[in-house]
Amino acid sequence: MSKSVLITGGSRGIGAATAVYFARKGYKVAITYNKSLYAAKAMKETMALNGCEFIAIPCDVKNPTQVESAVRQTVSAFGSLDVMVNNAGIALQKLITDTTDDDWQNILSTNLSGVFYGCRSAAKVMVNQKSGSIVNISSIWGVSGASMEVAYSATKSGIIGLTKALAKELGPSGIRVNCIAPGVIDTEMNSNLDIADFAALADDTPLGRIGAAEEVASAIFYLADDASFVTGQVLNTDGGIL
Ligand code: NDP
Repeated sequence: MSKSVLITGGSRGIGAATAVYFARKGYKVAITYNKSLYAAKAMKETMALNGCEFIAIPCDVKNPTQVESAVRQTVSAFGSLDVMVNNAGIALQKLITDTTDDDWQNILSTNLSGVFYGCRSAAKVMVNQKSGSIVNISSIWGVSGASMEVAYSATKSGIIGLTKALAKELGPSGIRVNCIAPGVIDTEMNSNLDIADFAALADDTPLGRIGAAEEVASAIFYLADDASFVTGQVLNTDGGIL
């Protein structure tokens, strides 16, 4: 029987590429979307072309009830939840002195609470199944810290701590929990960067270029599905930048 995956923020960017990657590997795929209804509808057509069983669920990851419901809808549609990818996230580039309380609460609740709710909801199902795998999406800035991205870096560091702790808690139930720390990836999240910014970032990267969403998707799949004796790890997917 084919396995199932739920990917938060699967309407665009890394999440959408991950959905397609898992579909091509024979998974049944559920994604959540928040604002991008039309992108989610377009994903439905892409998945049909890949012969994939697919559902798209509206869900704001800041809301624990909606996240819990997304997990329940996935299990009810597919019969199990084999892989949970907590990918949804937002960026914020500001000096700490310009970062408002609202900025801080918004990025904290989206990037860190969203991952916490996803892990908690998935854990309830996976502990009963006595199997499953969770992959959380952090960032290289969560590993090293980035100037003018203090709030973002803090949320992404939090995801690493959460991942390592949860791997210890869920290991005895046969559930693996890992984390990807992408470098600079070509998605709408970086649409504020111009050609000169991209050239400078590529220059700082040993592989001499920025990454593609599909390259992060393959690393996510590796941790989620292939890496059966790997848990509590952070895999930098960054062209060697760190
Ligand atoms: P995009 O901006 O391209 O896509 C973000 C995704 O997150 C969208 O699907 C969006 O859904 C969803 N999302 C945002 N806020 C919410 C919310 N409140 N509730 C539910 N979904 C939400 O970003 P990327 O694909 O580039 O990023 C994906 C992840 O990878 C993020 O966690 C990001 O921090 C991380 N990352 C990205 C890097 C990069 O260089 N691109 C580098 C390092 C890490 P919708 O459009 O429907 O609202």
